Amino acid sequence: SLAPPVRTVASVCCYCGTGCGVQVRTQGERVIEVAGDESHPSSHGRLCTKGMNLAATVRRDASRVLTAQLRRNREEERRPIALHSALSAAARRLAQTLRQHGPQAIGLYLSGQLLTEDYAVFNKLARALIGTNNIDTNSRLCMSSAVSGYVRTLGADAPPACYEDLDHAKMVFIAGSNMAYAHPVLFRRLEAAKARDPSMKIVVVDPRRTDTCEIADLHLQISAGTDVALMHAMLNVLIWEDLVDRDYIARHTEGFEALKRRVHEYTPRAAQEICGVPAEDIVRCARWFGSHGPALSLYTMGLNQSSSGTAKNAALIHLHLATGQIGKPGAGPFSLTGQPNAMGGREAGGMATLLPGHRDPGDAAHRAQVAAAWGVDSLPDTPGLTAVEMFDAVLEGKVKVLWIAGTNPAQSLPNQAKVRAALRRAEFVIVQEAYANTETLEYADLVLPAATWPEKDGTMTNSERRVSRVRTALRPPGDARPDWQLACAVARRLAAEIAPAKAPLFRYRSAAEIFAEHARLTAGRDLDYSALSHALLDSEGPQQWPFAPQGAACPRLYADGVFPTSDGRARFMDVAYTPVAERPTARRPLRLTTGRLRDQWHTMSRSGLVPQLARHVEEPCIHLHPQDMERLKIAGEQLVEVQSERGALVAPAQPDPALKPGHVYMPMHWGSGYMAGDGVNALGNDAVDPLSHQPELKHSAVSVRPL
Ligand code: SF4
Repeated sequence: SLAPPVRTVASVCCYCGTGCGVQVRTQGERVIEVAGDESHPSSHGRLCTKGMNLAATVRRDASRVLTAQLRRNREEERRPIALHSALSAAARRLAQTLRQHGPQAIGLYLSGQLLTEDYAVFNKLARALIGTNNIDTNSRLCMSSAVSGYVRTLGADAPPACYEDLDHAKMVFIAGSNMAYAHPVLFRRLEAAKARDPSMKIVVVDPRRTDTCEIADLHLQISAGTDVALMHAMLNVLIWEDLVDRDYIARHTEGFEALKRRVHEYTPRAAQEICGVPAEDIVRCARWFGSHGPALSLYTMGLNQSSSGTAKNAALIHLHLATGQIGKPGAGPFSLTGQPNAMGGREAGGMATLLPGHRDPGDAAHRAQVAAAWGVDSLPDTPGLTAVEMFDAVLEGKVKVLWIAGTNPAQSLPNQAKVRAALRRAEFVIVQEAYANTETLEYADLVLPAATWPEKDGTMTNSERRVSRVRTALRPPGDARPDWQLACAVARRLAAEIAPAKAPLFRYRSAAEIFAEHARLTAGRDLDYSALSHALLDSEGPQQWPFAPQGAACPRLYADGVFPTSDGRARFMDVAYTPVAERPTARRPLRLTTGRLRDQWHTMSRSGLVPQLARHVEEPCIHLHPQDMERLKIAGEQLVEVQSERGALVAPAQPDPALKPGHVYMPMHWGSGYMAGDGVNALGNDAVDPLSHQPELKHSAVSVRPL
């Protein structure tokens, strides 16, 4: 018989926020190759190891959730059921909970890996039908401090720079990012830029000497959590040496004088005491920042996953505002998004603290605009629960039904004992998932089988505000369906029970129709891409926002010095350095921090399926500085127990001279499927930043003892 024809579909890699374009080649029901897409303007054909191995992650076997499953009570095993029965069961349970306990008893917890169209439907379902703002995502663990920092200083959640700036910068300040592992294609671009222009200065701020430091001129080996003191000291130097742009400050900003008074006390010597970074290095870094040409800052989880994440983001953005290093080629603060579509989620309002089009659910006018666009009378004004709060509310019995889609909180949230207790306490847990191996599935009463990459159609937005099409290369296996279709099917059934007039709100024929509705909601907002459509993206290729159909491309924001605030001026935030939530003590004297491996992704539900990706680092281990190992009488590869106030885990010790003494490091990926204990997040601190509500996953006080 004839072999099925080979087809090629252009799409986007489903892992990190770099958003590399891919060409997916299929034959029949198999992906035979995934190659870089030369025509994609963000990545020009480059892929990292994870992207290159995508074909091997595409499964149609028992590693996938192929049917819906339900259990009638917690003593029973879940049994496969027909998809339509599962959708009805979900709707019945939601309706019953709404009648008995009201809308605040329901919570939705989603993922930065969903497509923008999925977010748009879930968001409408939560707010316009259920009537709750309790819809949050794992982006809360990822970028919410970046959002909060941008909004409070620049006036909108918009990364102002673009990837091209990596080629034009003369000084690159990388803070809290091991981009060599987490954003490898961008790192390669930076490496190439440095090779072309060896006078480019690169500074890396990190408690570990990561592989990113290989191209650094200076590594500031900071004590975890002390970044605000470091950046305030840099501003202190810039002011003292008159390297600030006084004209820019006067014309385009507010609040500099208060901050100037604040940073007066953060001398390089004072910062040395707090951060453990030599004062001379702080001075050198500040001088490069202020006088070496365009300065670009690249930053991610090291700043965000912190109980002072907003202050850290603001302190970094201050350096750009004070020197006028923003809106110019090669200059600006540039958050590197962790997940592939956390940006799209933020645009669609897929978080408790956001509404579509970067609107605020606390603003009555914004709620009215969205309600009118959706064709409903009003939207709820009760503030929604953010990720950590939502699981706390489940544990307290306030939230009774939890609907989790595309994420694995039973491994990724901090303080796992509490999260798992919450999942047990919930009256009903719906898990919408593609992979059969996630820790969270154990707690599901109802499982909805989800399609995943490359079975889905829609859009994603990457770190440089570029919207790309994600295209279906294969049909979903078994009963799996795209997330938006599952959400719509439940919504229509729920509407039939509680508000029949709202059923038509969820009758979409395609992802393109959902996108059209979503794009209209961006009109007149900072991110305006109301003129974008799937058809336009198909004919013209990926586009950056704000998007003007006939206008010039807008690669970077704020070139005119006008910011989306009430008076057009950016704001300096008068923020103090505050120590980590949990300082080391005699009982827990070490600082535990976490990070990513080059070849793994999140909780490994996808990347863990590929043997080649395990070769780089094969098994979980605890990194300790040799000095600490000697003091604690721990030999290399000896099993050790690491303990925080919240949990413990056991793994072999690995001597790591790249660590700052007093720090312990473990990659975030391994969960209970791979090791004794529930993974490193079992130890993690769920203290949150007061403004962004992002938990402090990057720092816990721990003890380590040999076994
Ligand atoms: Fe995928 Fe990110 Fe690697 Fe690009 S850099 S191939 S988006 S994981």
